[in-house]
Amino acid sequence: MTLCEDCAAIVPNQAGAPGHANLISLGEVRALHLARRRATHEVFTCAECGANWDYLRDKRDPTAGWTRCDRSTPAAAPSTDKGERAA
Ligand SMILES: [Zn+2]
Repeated sequence: MTLCEDCAAIVPNQAGAPGHANLISLGEVRALHLARRRATHEVFTCAECGANWDYLRDKRDPTAGWTRCDRSTPAAAPSTDKGERAA
């Protein structure tokens, strides 16, 4: 997948980094470990290039911010090698 210019301009893992106008919020992910830290995790998708982004809002974590997450990409190499080839 190729990122559009707006997505390419996003600075990942930086608290307070701005997103862009074509990001569509898919809603908030609720998780206990986030609630305990009073952090929020919001999921976005880009209307322009279809990139998936996570935005983590956590006052205690200076690296909380934008993260790319490509859920559309199938896992190419599932980690199922548990020694099945022992024979
Ligand atoms: Zn984009």
